[in-house]
Amino acid sequence: MTKKERIEPLLTAEKIDARVSELADQINKDYVGKSIILMGTLKGAYIFMADLSRKITAPTEIDCLKVSSYGDSTSPISQVAFDQKPSIELEGKHVLLVEDIVDTGHTLAYLRRYLESRKPASLKVCALLDKPSRREAVLPESEYIGFQIPDAFVVGYGLDFNQRYRNLPFIGELIFEDI
Ligand code: 5GP
Repeated sequence: MTKKERIEPLLTAEKIDARVSELADQINKDYVGKSIILMGTLKGAYIFMADLSRKITAPTEIDCLKVSSYGDSTSPISQVAFDQKPSIELEGKHVLLVEDIVDTGHTLAYLRRYLESRKPASLKVCALLDKPSRREAVLPESEYIGFQIPDAFVVGYGLDFNQRYRNLPFIGELIFEDI
């Protein structure tokens, strides 16, 4: 049976912008007198990172990393591996990991372990979206969370389905309908 894709709006561009401003305000307060390395996860966090970074007033360096998850039908836990590692020195720096979405948490657990091994002065996490009902990994609470959302597959504002929909200015649930 053929399926048609439909997007059910969840977070408007205005709502996202207001929340990104609130997150940036909090980050600006928390990092007074410090400089930050904003470490964005590609590709999903590219728009969030661009918007957030322009609202941050502390001296900021920008870097990106990219990971892939590889599912394994014999194990419920997917394997995470780097496609692109950070390109700047992190030792002794204040690193703020900018994530698009925390789902099972395996990606974030992997990234936290890796980034901690690079001996930053501090490591915090700013995730735009969080799906707590889907969590499998044991993780410390992320310091900055944009929105907690229900268990739905969402696209837009950087998030894709098969590389499409990243450029939508809002976030919506992707729904498949029979036609
Ligand atoms: P986790 O390791 O937490 O299960 O998954 C994290 C990654 O899965 C995210 O960085 C994102 O790439 C992808 N992901 C998880 N949930 C969604 C979703 O609802 N929509 C999209 N587009 N990607 C998702």
